[in-house]
Amino acid sequence: MRRPPGKKKFFYRRRKVCRMCAEKMNTVDYKDVRFLQQYIVERAKILPRRISGTCAKHQRIIQQAIKRARHLALLPYTSD
Ligand SMILES: [Zn+2]
Repeated sequence: MRRPPGKKKFFYRRRKVCRMCAEKMNTVDYKDVRFLQQYIVERAKILPRRISGTCAKHQRIIQQAIKRARHLALLPYTSD
């Protein structure tokens, strides 16, 4: 039971990890509304990275997918 003090070099983090990285997804299907809805808050806003834990790369992909989905009226635009 010896632990080097102050040195935790495990790459497993307890922090929120990007869901897409965890699942090794490289693309998002914009028709997958269920998935996209996980990244949208009530007013149809896209969840900020800090909250969703999504990495920059995937956040971009998600944002684009959401935009497309909105165009096709699969997802709502921001409502008043
Ligand atoms: Zn990611």
